[in-house]
Amino acid sequence: MEQELYTDICVIGGGPGGATISMRLSELANHVILLEKDAFPRPHVGICLSNETDALLDYLGVGNIIKQEAFLQRKSTLLKWGSDRTEIVEQTGRHVDRGRFDQILIKKAMDSGVQVIQPARTQSIIHKKNQEWIIKAYFKGKTILIYAKFLVDASGRSASLQGKRIRNAPSLFALHAVWNLRSKPQFDGFMEAGKNAWLWTALLNESQCMISLYTDPSYISHNGHRNLQNFYCSNLENFSLVKLLDLDGDFGKVYGCDASSRYSLHPVGDDFIRVGDANFAIDPMASQGVHLALNTAIQAAIVVNTLIHYPEHANTARIFYRDRQQERINQFRERTIFEYSKAAINLPYPFWEKRSKDAMSGTRTQIVNLTSLTVTQKLRVCPLAKIISTPVMKDRWIELAPALHHPELSRPVAFLADKNIDLLFHYFKDGQTIIDILDRWKSLVSEDTGTQIIQWLWENHVLISVAEGRS
Ligand SMILES: Cc1cc2nc3c(=O)[nH]c(=O)nc-3n(C[C@H](O)[C@H](O)[C@H](O)COP(=O)(O)OP(=O)(O)OC[C@H]3O[C@@H](n4cnc5c(N)ncnc54)[C@H](O)[C@@H]3O)c2cc1C
Repeated sequence: MEQELYTDICVIGGGPGGATISMRLSELANHVILLEKDAFPRPHVGICLSNETDALLDYLGVGNIIKQEAFLQRKSTLLKWGSDRTEIVEQTGRHVDRGRFDQILIKKAMDSGVQVIQPARTQSIIHKKNQEWIIKAYFKGKTILIYAKFLVDASGRSASLQGKRIRNAPSLFALHAVWNLRSKPQFDGFMEAGKNAWLWTALLNESQCMISLYTDPSYISHNGHRNLQNFYCSNLENFSLVKLLDLDGDFGKVYGCDASSRYSLHPVGDDFIRVGDANFAIDPMASQGVHLALNTAIQAAIVVNTLIHYPEHANTARIFYRDRQQERINQFRERTIFEYSKAAINLPYPFWEKRSKDAMSGTRTQIVNLTSLTVTQKLRVCPLAKIISTPVMKDRWIELAPALHHPELSRPVAFLADKNIDLLFHYFKDGQTIIDILDRWKSLVSEDTGTQIIQWLWENHVLISVAEGRS
């Protein structure tokens, strides 16, 4: 028996990316159906969240619910990164139970009007010439056919929608298991670089931790280990920080999964978009995958809303989404190469060398203002700074607006303290001091905000000293 359903938008996948984009699109008055293959709560990798994510969760209206959950608060991680020295790194954020975390987000999506069909695994996706998608899924022993005008792939690393995906770094494979502890360790995280792998231990609660090992997949197939558990256990012995844990010797099943960084060559089209890991999966070393999935899904919702309801801005919206994706690819590539190369200094082994190979070429040349800004200093705008019409996100759609471009900025900036950048720049004249600029801005921003903006422009080398570069 088949059931047919009609909708504006079909979202495949109910992880953080899928739940977020569907709730935002529903709040923007679109009809959304979300298909999730698993019943929630279910286990999922990606448990470590930083405090930065709180702002996104507040924005989505689930911040308070998450804070009330008994998720473990992070305080400090013990780090041994290549050398014999260990250091304690203060950390904020949480180790969440992803089963519960994802359930909270999907519940919020349902409350926002999203029709969630779960557990329903997508079987096939057909794109008809008349710009219609037909998605076939199984739900409670029945086949459902969903006819949608727009498709969102939020199915994580498995990426349901076909299309070329590019590996952004050498392959990485993760092995992980939950261990019981006889006593609570002093730190809630342990991170260590070994010869052919790195280790990440995250405390889940008073008596359990997850120990993950990240290695090159070729080592597993070539070293004669008959199974993942064998490889995992024998490699853990090489990590000295594991010995600081009071493990009771009993652990659950060892799971293995691909953890390579990949991005999609076509993140957005006329009637489809990819979000979260289905679009860009980052190296887990950054512990930012969930944050990125939430963040891109919030932006993607506005892009989809523009494509559906503001076709005159469709091209601008697609450029916006592609540009944001490219920025993130560059940013995370640089960041992870830097972390791998820090360990590679003391670990001259192929695992580390391969991953830090282009550390130098990947590092952005930073032009740093070494001098501090003084009140009497005469300033001018750096000749490399340009105001260019650029796609920016408005309330419900994407449109072109003037934005500041400068090699020191990781992305164009259209607003500072809610003020249009071109308006602020309109008042600049060569040779002004901070006092002069604040005086000209007095109808726009308070003195405190104005000072912060000038400081930021100075630190990013957008404002420079008049004397600079003239000798
Ligand atoms: C080993 C490892 C450790 C990590 N550690 C961290 C960490 O500590 N912190 C962090 O922030 N990030 C971490 N990440 C990354 C993080 O897990 C992901 O970035 C994040 O889960 C992405 O969210 P998503 O919604 O895009 O995808 P997912 O969370 O993977 O959600 C995709 C959903 O789609 C569903 N689905 C898949 N196929 C179908 C289908 N055909 N039909 C219907 N539904 C489908 C799945 O069941 C799933 O619920 C880690 C990743 C790995 C691999």
